[in-house]
Amino acid sequence: MITIEQLKQSSDLIKKNRPAYQLILDFYARIFLAQEQSKQTIECRPVIIEPDLLKIKQKYEMPLIDQSEFTIDNKSAEHLFNTICDLAYEFAPKLSSNAQFLKKTAKTESFNLETLFSAILNNQDSTLRDLARLLNIPEHELVFFGYASIAPSLRICSEQLEAYLIDMPDLKKGYCPVCGNHPDMAFLDKDGHRHLKCCFCAHEWLVKRMGCVFCDNNDKDYQQYFFSDEEKEYRVHLCDNCHNYIKLVDLRQIDRAFYPKLEQITTLHLDIKAKEKGYTNAGTLANDVSL
Ligand SMILES: [Zn+2]
Ligand SMILES: [Zn+2]
Repeated sequence: MITIEQLKQSSDLIKKNRPAYQLILDFYARIFLAQEQSKQTIECRPVIIEPDLLKIKQKYEMPLIDQSEFTIDNKSAEHLFNTICDLAYEFAPKLSSNAQFLKKTAKTESFNLETLFSAILNNQDSTLRDLARLLNIPEHELVFFGYASIAPSLRICSEQLEAYLIDMPDLKKGYCPVCGNHPDMAFLDKDGHRHLKCCFCAHEWLVKRMGCVFCDNNDKDYQQYFFSDEEKEYRVHLCDNCHNYIKLVDLRQIDRAFYPKLEQITTLHLDIKAKEKGYTNAGTLANDVSL
């Protein structure tokens, strides 16, 4: 687990090496810090899975829960929402005026934050669309502020749920064993084992070293990757069977503390390149970054 101090150091190191990301990091590193701080005081009702149900999930290789079953510390999420609006006001010029408006409106009857959090949790697209229209704010921005505010609760919850995975065989599948969502990035640990990170609850799990994590295709004619010589720690894997891509960080090549979201946000140029080549990532659609 990375400390807040290490997170600051990693962010400063990346900023020094890649000045193009200075402005983005000025904003996002502060969000990550606020999220980590928020995690320390969060109180989520633990999700309980009855033993019989757990057996069925194990037998059929199903995720532990549906994402709607996560519990949120609403008070803490509301507090974080205000903090993130303040950060956006100060450090994200394109989000600035909407952030100010959202913070002000969240204090009134017309906009209830719990409605926003629950709509994200329950994947209620039409509620989100209506809410965005009512507030006259682009939907992806609304989801960005909402998701960033509940992310620490989701992580606390998924950390609690990890206890149920201890006796489970490693499924090595391309979906999150906790909540069933897609991965949005991959990494190789110091021993060269490949892990994935869930785009929704940030749980990390081990998978096979080779093959596409989305469709399980293992035909080398269909699997390719690209990387740049200046950034040996990153690789982007492309699958010509399902046309998904995934970014991979090789931890053997970095000398900073690894904070997945930090690496994710400072490799947007790789997402652009993969998309230009005609690939998508099923995992990034859920909580697309907003700048
Ligand atoms: Zn998950
Ligand atoms: Zn594939």
